[in-house]
Formats: sequence, structure tokens, C-alpha cells
Amino acid sequence: FQLIADQLGSSLANVYAYEEARRRAEALIEIDRAKTAFFNNISHEFRTPLTLMLGPLEELLAGDTSAFSTKQRADLEITQRNANRLLKLVNTLLDFSRIEAKKAHAQYFPVDLANVTTDLAGSFRSAIEHAGMELEVDCRPLQETAYVDRDMWEKIVLNLLSNAFKYTLKGTISVSLREEDNKAVLRVKDTGIGIPAEELPHMFERFHRVKQSGGRSFEGTGIGLSLVKELVLLHEGTITVESEAGKGSTFTVSIPLGADHLPAAQVSMYDN
Ligand code: ADP
Repeated sequence: FQLIADQLGSSLANVYAYEEARRRAEALIEIDRAKTAFFNNISHEFRTPLTLMLGPLEELLAGDTSAFSTKQRADLEITQRNANRLLKLVNTLLDFSRIEAKKAHAQYFPVDLANVTTDLAGSFRSAIEHAGMELEVDCRPLQETAYVDRDMWEKIVLNLLSNAFKYTLKGTISVSLREEDNKAVLRVKDTGIGIPAEELPHMFERFHRVKQSGGRSFEGTGIGLSLVKELVLLHEGTITVESEAGKGSTFTVSIPLGADHLPAAQVSMYDN
């Protein structure tokens, strides 16, 4: 009798524990959903007044400014620059909520990644060379077809490149694309300020920024890399970073080739 009573007791405890875990998981999902909706709403609310401020400012600065003193013109330019920064930040926040919404709508097309990536890297050439640095691009055509959401791939490459550019003061930025183990492997390498070892595990966390030692500080929000990671994950890919403080960093993105791993309903067999 004791044995039966014990077993009954432990099954009841299991049922209770299961119910409790389920309730907690549901509560977490609900909080996450509410958080995304909140981000989405405030981003929209911020964007409209910002755009309405930027329009007249741009008009003012593009027109005849001879009536302004040098100081007044400089003040207007500072305002414009900072409003633009804020708009960029708000747009990135919106990107996050769009990803949530887009998970169901991402469209994976066959894309010539070597070509597209070479073009994207090329758009940085003049800025990089103007800053006295070098750009090396070596993207080789892939044998197997890559299916990617083109907008997302552009965001991945552009974010990594703009970081490489921002955090490198001299030397070379290299972009390469290779086929390795049936994956498309993108590497963005720089000879910049690098990342201290203890920071590496946190690089893809939202809002994480490395505290810079010394006098130099860099503008930013700590959003770009976490956005890149979300986009890579949507392609069932991985992103890693290797770095040495003071020497430079290499970010590596790997995306499986072919379409077997993607939701069939979101894959188009023909390029658009
Ligand atoms: P942001 O550049 O706006 O701060 P990111 O999410 O793109 O945000 O990057 C997070 C942090 O990672 C940056 O603040 C910077 O400290 C570090 N970081 C990113 N890319 C590099 C790089 N190529 N070299 C050195 N540090 C980097």
C-alpha cells in the first residue's frame, strides 16, 4: 500500500511540475511578444516626429544660408547630424520587430552571393581608401546554390563592413567568400582596434558595447551585431568572431547551401 501511495504521490508531483513549467513558458512567450510590440510601437511613434523635424532642417541647410552666422549654421548642422543618428537607431529597433514579423515572410531566393557581396564591399571602397586604408575583396563563385533573403544578406554584409571600417584606423579590411563543407562562408577581417578576450562571449548581445580604454571613443548603439546574428540564424547559419586587442578582428558567417534546411513555402526556386 505504501508503495502505491508513494508512486501516486510522485506521479502527482510530476504532473504538477510539468504544469508549472508549461505555465512559466507561456508567461515568458507572452512577455516576449509584449516586448516586441512595445519596441515596435515606440519606434513608430519616434520616427514620425523625427522625420518631420529632419525635412525642414534639410530644406533650410540646402537653401540660401547666407543670412546665418557661421555659428548658427554649425548649430543647425549638429542638430541635423544628431537627428539623423537618432533616426538610424530607431530604424534599427524597427528592424528587430520586423524580423519577428518577417520570420513568417522571409523569402529565400537563389542569389549569386559572390557577385552581390563584391558589389556591397565595393560601395565602401572610396570611404576606406579616402581614410588611407586598403580594401581587399576576394569572393569566389559557389558551386552549390545559395538561397538567401537578399535584404537580409545586405544587412549582414553592410553591418560587418561598417564595423570593420569604424573600428579600424589603419591597415586593411578584407572581405572574402568561400564554399566550405557545403556552406557559404563570409569573412570580414580588419586590422583595427580588436576586442579584448573577456568581451568576446558578449559580442552578439543586444546593446552590448565594448568599453574603450584610452581616450578614443566610438559612436554607436550596440545593436548592429545582435541584428546580424538574428538574420544569420534565420538562414540556419552561424556567426563567430576571433579577435586580439590591438591587432584586429575577423567575423565569420556560415550559411548552409541548398534549400533543404529552409521552410519550403518561403523558398523560391527562381531568382526574382
Ligand atoms: P555599435 O558599433 O553600434 O556599438 P555593434 O553591435 O555593431 O554596435 O557592435 C557592438 C560592439 O562590438 C561595438 O561597440 C564595438 O565595441 C565592438 N565591435 C564590433 N565590431 C568590431 C570590430 N570590427 N572591431 C572591434 N570592435 C568591434
